[in-house]
Amino acid sequence: MSPSIKYIPSDEHLPSSADVVIIGGGIVGATAAYFLARRGLSVALIEKGYVGCEQSSRNWGWCRQQNRDARELPLSGAAMRLWGELTAEIGTDLGFRRCGLKYATDDPKQLAEWEAWLDTARQFDINTKILSAAEATSAIPSVGRKWLGGVHSVDDGKAEPAIAAPGIAEGARAHGASIHQNCAAHGLDITNGAVTGVITEKGVIRTNAVLCAAGAWASAFCRRHGLRFPQASVRQTAMRTRPAPDIGDVIYTPDCALTRRLDGSYTMAISGKARLEITPQGLRYGKSFLPMFIKRLGAMEFGIGKSFIHGPEGLAGWGSAKSSAFERIRVLDPTAMPETVTDILKRVRKRFPALANIEVAETWGSYVDCTPDAVPVISAMDGISGFFLAAGCSGHGFGLGPGIGHLAADLVANDTPCVDPEPYSLSRLLDGSKVEVGAI
Ligand SMILES: Cc1cc2nc3c(=O)[nH]c(=O)nc-3n(C[C@H](O)[C@H](O)[C@H](O)COP(=O)(O)OP(=O)(O)OC[C@H]3O[C@@H](n4cnc5c(N)ncnc54)[C@H](O)[C@@H]3O)c2cc1C
Repeated sequence: MSPSIKYIPSDEHLPSSADVVIIGGGIVGATAAYFLARRGLSVALIEKGYVGCEQSSRNWGWCRQQNRDARELPLSGAAMRLWGELTAEIGTDLGFRRCGLKYATDDPKQLAEWEAWLDTARQFDINTKILSAAEATSAIPSVGRKWLGGVHSVDDGKAEPAIAAPGIAEGARAHGASIHQNCAAHGLDITNGAVTGVITEKGVIRTNAVLCAAGAWASAFCRRHGLRFPQASVRQTAMRTRPAPDIGDVIYTPDCALTRRLDGSYTMAISGKARLEITPQGLRYGKSFLPMFIKRLGAMEFGIGKSFIHGPEGLAGWGSAKSSAFERIRVLDPTAMPETVTDILKRVRKRFPALANIEVAETWGSYVDCTPDAVPVISAMDGISGFFLAAGCSGHGFGLGPGIGHLAADLVANDTPCVDPEPYSLSRLLDGSKVEVGAI
């Protein structure tokens, strides 16, 4: 079931040309559209389903620097600043609040990892505090577990997945961008190695610049044009409650992760619990992902399902020019795993007596698109001039979204990049260099 979301209207006419065409209306595509349109460029945002329909409305809403890989911290710093600016400029409440995140654990290894990360925090001037056992217990009182310690990441926060991407896309439209939903991009028109247009199901848009922000579909789109992008997706389950007593804004424990939403309901999930489904694309890039599989072996469940045949990584492939995989699956909407839903509810009700009577409003599944080192790709694509990629957000792309969108816009417009783009180049994943798996 798709989670609730703010729907926005489409523009009626597909433009015959645009300075930039963006494929994918998630948080990355929407923010890139915003920052490009704000510079005065004409922008068409193309979305096969509706804006925000996949990962960008299905996540927990955490906007954090805490525990991030050092390669992502310049981007996350920019993103946290941009969340605030976007909210002020667009004039819509995107749910962004620097409410702080609270973590507690009874696992000495996990606590030691959080303590070790303080060195990184210091280098990037991040305001974070290790909590003693007593402080963690007072921050996150929980029945039946005795916390050894915790973290309070003071300046981190949350935003509202149901409204962020649609709200930012509307902000892009206010600067002149056009938005086309139920409009799949089938492929690129290429002349002499350079992009000259995007072929969509509603017609061709002439352009010399295309940003692929297609989330879990990005690798399949690139493959269509002979370009390699190692990407694999893991399946996750989450749920939303009805409005419930307030036990805190953003909470992590080894049992569960909770985010309080604007209406007083909670998004709930279990951190690290994910299922890796074997797919043809997964097998194609299996070697690149080996270091990650080894590092995360304990946390990952393996399986095989419909995704082997259907979907971005499946055998069924592209389909015909009239009906591509993108139209067959307008919204990638895997079911929530029932045993995970039961488990989340059981844990939350047991640990937090105030939530003993919570009711479920909706549950959903989702595929999180990952790169082999768990760092996004934001990069020009060697091989096709004018083609750019911003995908592989590896479970971090909501909070990082405005940073990723801004950097992608800088690259497309050939402006000074807001942060050094080098750590996000695609070439690092293709040139045979050692894969350093980042933090989740
Ligand atoms: C359960 C869960 C929890 C998460 N929690 C967090 C969190 O707390 N904090 C955080 O920072 N991140 C979190 N994430 C990750 C975050 O949601 C993603 O990294 C982020 O939303 C990715 O944004 P995106 O724009 O790249 O992709 P998406 O939101 O997936 O958007 C891609 C869009 O492209 C469209 N598309 C694809 N192909 C085509 C085509 N050919 N033509 C037209 N349109 C196309 C799709 O329909 C889709 O709407 C979580 C993810 C999940 C699933």
